[in-house]
Amino acid sequence: MNLADQLSTHFRIDAPHVKALKKLRIETVIDLLYHLPARYEDISDVQSVGSLALGQDTVVYGQLSGLKTRKAWKSRRPIAEGYVEDGSAKMKIMWFNQPYIAKMYTDGMYVKLAGKVAGSEGKLYLSNPEIEKLDSLPIDRHDSIFQGTEQLDDTLYPVYRETKGITSKWIYHTVLKCFEKDVLDTLIDPIPKEILNKYNLPDLATALVWIHSPKKAQHAESARKRFAFEEVFYIQVQNAQNRAAANAATTYSFKTSPEHVAEFTDRFPFTLTDSQNKSIKAILDNFGGNHAMSRLLEGDVGSGKTAVAATTAYAVATSRPPEGLDKKIEFGNLQVGYMAPTEILAKQHFESFIEYFQHLPISIGLITGSGCMKFPSKSNPTKPTKISKPQLLKWVKNGEIPILIGTHSLIYKSVEFKHLAYVIIDEQHRFGTNQRKQLAKKDARMPHLLSMTATPIPRTLALTIYGDLDITLLDQMPAGRKPIKTTIVGPGQQADMYKHVRSELAIGRQAYVICPRIEEPDPTKENALNMKSVIAEAKRLGDTEFSEYSIGILHGKMKPAEKDEVMADFNNHKYDVLVATSVVEVGVNVPNATNIIIEGAERFGLSQLHQLRGRVVRGTHQPYCFAVTESKSEKTRDRLKALATAANGFELAEHDLQFRGSGELYGGKQSGLSDLGMEAIRNLKLVEAARTEAQHLVATHPDIKQDFPMIAERVSRLGDALHME
Ligand code: ADP
Ligand code: MG
Repeated sequence: MNLADQLSTHFRIDAPHVKALKKLRIETVIDLLYHLPARYEDISDVQSVGSLALGQDTVVYGQLSGLKTRKAWKSRRPIAEGYVEDGSAKMKIMWFNQPYIAKMYTDGMYVKLAGKVAGSEGKLYLSNPEIEKLDSLPIDRHDSIFQGTEQLDDTLYPVYRETKGITSKWIYHTVLKCFEKDVLDTLIDPIPKEILNKYNLPDLATALVWIHSPKKAQHAESARKRFAFEEVFYIQVQNAQNRAAANAATTYSFKTSPEHVAEFTDRFPFTLTDSQNKSIKAILDNFGGNHAMSRLLEGDVGSGKTAVAATTAYAVATSRPPEGLDKKIEFGNLQVGYMAPTEILAKQHFESFIEYFQHLPISIGLITGSGCMKFPSKSNPTKPTKISKPQLLKWVKNGEIPILIGTHSLIYKSVEFKHLAYVIIDEQHRFGTNQRKQLAKKDARMPHLLSMTATPIPRTLALTIYGDLDITLLDQMPAGRKPIKTTIVGPGQQADMYKHVRSELAIGRQAYVICPRIEEPDPTKENALNMKSVIAEAKRLGDTEFSEYSIGILHGKMKPAEKDEVMADFNNHKYDVLVATSVVEVGVNVPNATNIIIEGAERFGLSQLHQLRGRVVRGTHQPYCFAVTESKSEKTRDRLKALATAANGFELAEHDLQFRGSGELYGGKQSGLSDLGMEAIRNLKLVEAARTEAQHLVATHPDIKQDFPMIAERVSRLGDALHME
């Protein structure tokens, strides 16, 4: 058996199962071995149904049958009941006052039940057990464990990600069969021995055995650490390579005096925060250096990233190219490309830039899918004007327009610059990492890059996903900003909230209502469900709480143009209230919208709630956020309370990481990291170690492909999969 062999050459697998395996990205032996368990089930405390006795607290696994709901004979209380069967026996289950249980589960489902055995001898039943649906029963649950005793030592069973037709159990047994065929002897560990030794990580063969069939929890843990390290290591090698390539490229180097910058910033209607000043200085220092800048500017919504972008763009647009100006023309300074994820945002930046630059002889262009504009207009120098795309492209190409703002359209081949020295990407998380490479191709020199994001993610995740960037935090809010008033609204407390929001609407303010997130593995179904809930909530509010006000809706099933239109209408106060799903990100400034109601708040991470409420902190009016939860749990309320006290989004992101676990981390699921990689993110030491080793490897081995072909191969497989959405 060889690692690269198709599984079907060694195991009898029919076509539908081959297809199902492909869905799990398993085709070859090595694919299977690298399909790591999602978790372990410790079944030492599991009993067989047949062995249960009255009064016992128990955990059983089995299949459901005979589910139904009825009313108790005397009290008329609703009772849901059914049976659980595990191969050893069948026992009755009763849930009192929880009639919905019978609707949530169906006969034939595999479940784990934890509860107390009640009733009387001969008429035992499980009373009010906690129930958890399983895709299949744990390995050998009903065959070997209860019949024989031969396996009693191994109580830790791996549970794998499954798909239709491929059970966890099948995966486990097939892996064990591969082990029996001595496949481990043919393994070569891609990670150098010195690194493994240094961090006390098991080698590949050991780790595979430990992770798939651990004899001790400690072994499983150690193996998981190794694979987590490995995953982060490859990413960091890629980061280090990207960085080395950026450093090797020639770039534009130019210096800007503080006095010159002050001429620009002194005109702002506000004083820059220390954070903003520091960020500007760091960027200008990079412009004066020999390497192309690679920087990420992370700052909460409203922290003033645009002013940093504008000031540094000014430094670029007032600098000459190294070869000096073309004699025949008196323009042709260095150029800036500023990319935003949506048309509205691009337009908003265009308008802000006009404000900042109107006193200067610096033209600004706007390019989006729906047309092009230029400031200033020839006929009216205080206004922008529509121009044709060919005209705009001509002026960008000959350097007459030094600042070009736009959407994705900016990276189209047809957009050519004369001296593209600076690329700014707003809301970086919405773009893949590829965009920079595309933009970089537009000039023989590598442009400086500033990525900006308001997505609060923990430092470890940032170090991994944005590992090739220097990170600057904008962790200060402009002075005089009214801090948002956040209220946690528990069951039965909604009336006051609606009363308050109505009073705000009455004085002309606007409000967002965010509907609870409904999760569904199938994204089309999820979108449909969320759309339904938005429409229903909008109708309910229109009929009741906000009957005197106009209500707009926004959800993920709408086309981008439709969403833009609704946002524009909301911005123009055509609607007082906007009911939306959380998936619809609104990076847009509607200063008059000062209230946000977030339903089902407990279903969100704190950093996501923070992100959502950021929509209302733009204006000069007092902003309010209402985090509504139906949960009575003290713990949930306590967690939400952090919203009212944390200083910024990054603090909340770290909070999420500690208290909710990495799997639920905002942005985590979309980042392209595996579950194991996400686990690694909890471990700063591990992330830093992987980063240090990767950087060292790349620095000492310029040709990784030659020296470490296996590492090079793994890195190339990463592609552009990693990004934030
Ligand atoms: P974001 O970081 O979310 O992109 P913006 O750049 O849009 O934030 O800034 C939000 C608002 O704050 C804008 O209206 C901007 O003019 C204002 N602003 C930026 N910096 C300051 C400051 N130092 N003091 C006061 N207001 C500021
Ligand atoms: Mg912004």
